[in-house]
Amino acid sequence: MRAVLGDARPERAGRDDTAAEMLRRRARGRTGRRRPRPGAGADIAPGRAPSRLAPPAEERNPCMWDFSTDPEFQARLDWVAGFVREEIEPLDVLFSGTAEPYDRDGEVFREVVRPLQAQVKEQGLWAAHLPPHLGGMGMGQVRLALLNEILGRSQWAPMVFGTQAPDSGNAEILAHYGNEEQRRRFLEPLLDGRIVSTFAMTEPQGGADPGGFTCRAVRDGDEWVINGEKWFASNYPHAAFVIAMIITDPDVPVHQGSSMFIIPKGTPGMAQVRGTGLGEEPIGEGAHAYLRFTDCRVPAENLLGEPGTGFAIAQTRLGGGRLHHAMRSVGQCRRAMEMMTERIASRSTRGGPLSKQQAVRQSLADTWIQIEQFRLQVLHAAWQVDRSRETGDPAHARLARLHISAVKAATPKTLVDVVYRAMHLHGSLGVSNELPLIRMWQSGPVLGVADGPTEAHKDVVARLLLQDAVPAEDRLFGSEHIPTRQAAAREKFAGRLKRLEEAR
Ligand SMILES: Cc1cc2nc3c(=O)[nH]c(=O)nc-3n(C[C@H](O)[C@H](O)[C@H](O)COP(=O)(O)OP(=O)(O)OC[C@H]3O[C@@H](n4cnc5c(N)ncnc54)[C@H](O)[C@@H]3O)c2cc1C
Repeated sequence: MRAVLGDARPERAGRDDTAAEMLRRRARGRTGRRRPRPGAGADIAPGRAPSRLAPPAEERNPCMWDFSTDPEFQARLDWVAGFVREEIEPLDVLFSGTAEPYDRDGEVFREVVRPLQAQVKEQGLWAAHLPPHLGGMGMGQVRLALLNEILGRSQWAPMVFGTQAPDSGNAEILAHYGNEEQRRRFLEPLLDGRIVSTFAMTEPQGGADPGGFTCRAVRDGDEWVINGEKWFASNYPHAAFVIAMIITDPDVPVHQGSSMFIIPKGTPGMAQVRGTGLGEEPIGEGAHAYLRFTDCRVPAENLLGEPGTGFAIAQTRLGGGRLHHAMRSVGQCRRAMEMMTERIASRSTRGGPLSKQQAVRQSLADTWIQIEQFRLQVLHAAWQVDRSRETGDPAHARLARLHISAVKAATPKTLVDVVYRAMHLHGSLGVSNELPLIRMWQSGPVLGVADGPTEAHKDVVARLLLQDAVPAEDRLFGSEHIPTRQAAAREKFAGRLKRLEEAR
């Protein structure tokens, strides 16, 4: 029996000899949580034996739409699900909120993350978003969505699997636009997981509107001289280099007048004004850098792609990133729903379990419905991207853009709604620092802003939908006006209506 759309089947990962295993035991001791996940795959229970009533494969209806995942890929997803749960989720509680595993030179990375990455590589699942010639799997976006749903459950899983932002997007643009030397110097160690990188586009005076960017690069002989500021450059503290979109021609619109530069860390003139954190992280600390460039000289060979193509290159990486965030958010939402299901089955109020309360049941049902709708939307958007890459048809590319922006706009609301319900049903424990829910909930508003605010994406959706809009001939009452249509229908069937009349 084929598993339905990659429902992760719990399975032990079976590796007991790593430092991670030691940490896992510690984490397990603290959390005491090792029961099967309630509500996981509540749609169709994964791993269930085929029904005796199911017809043999050759007799199944060939017209039936196939929402299932092929068994081979499902087996890989099962391995990932077990590995994430057993080996990676413990890191979330051991290193919660710390940047230690990002520090490639640190002990934690060497002792804990490296051995896990080695196992992922052994399985051939490393950097799955990349094509095979770059060491990835070339699995396409739909399969990637099924994988990312599992990785989204854990804060550290994307890093262990080599798919974490912003490195994943930076690797993509280096692969597409980088020359041989740039690939050797920056892409290879990045793909290998030896270094991390930063992407800097947003400026302090405004991110959603690149038309307001002022950070400038001016050509001077064999160098470019950069002056200006960038804001919220994620992962800068541990990055080996920055890829920055900078204005090189202020006399044309930004989509023609910006270029992409690779700036190694330590380049004189590039400095962090301060680190910015999220939420309650201490002021002055955090992984998102406020950067200042003061007469920062970068050799001409560090230009990525052609001058003036910076904006187009940025869009290449941002499209994929938005979709991948949505895929991982499905995983977060499912995790929140599992917690919610477990809670309402465990907690009693007024002499009975919470799960008997009608309002609570409604909340659970709303949650499941919303996740299913969102998940199908994400998978469909992923399919649109795969199809557009396959056909190269501009109409398909336009549809893919539409779907990505729609999914991007839907992501924060889905996360906020789902996690809020889970948090609320946990009462005070839910909003406390002893459960991960408030942190998960915070990722809703964050994803409403990162990679472009919701409004901007809804605007893209509306713009693309309106591209084919044709004004009604009857501008006053429109083409669905019933009296007008009745008159037209009477005229169309006048002969038959007359014969009917005469026969009466
Ligand atoms: C966690 C996180 C990580 C990030 N990482 C990076 C990174 O690595 N590199 C990087 O370059 N940037 C990064 N960013 C910045 C991000 O891309 C910007 O925050 C985003 O583009 C919005 O820009 P802004 O913050 O300046 O908001 P603004 O542009 O000031 O927008 C603020 C609000 O104004 C409204 N608004 C804006 N435009 C429109 C519109 N067209 N229609 C209607 N309303 C609108 C919206 O309500 C919007 O939320 C990150 C942000 C976050 C939160």
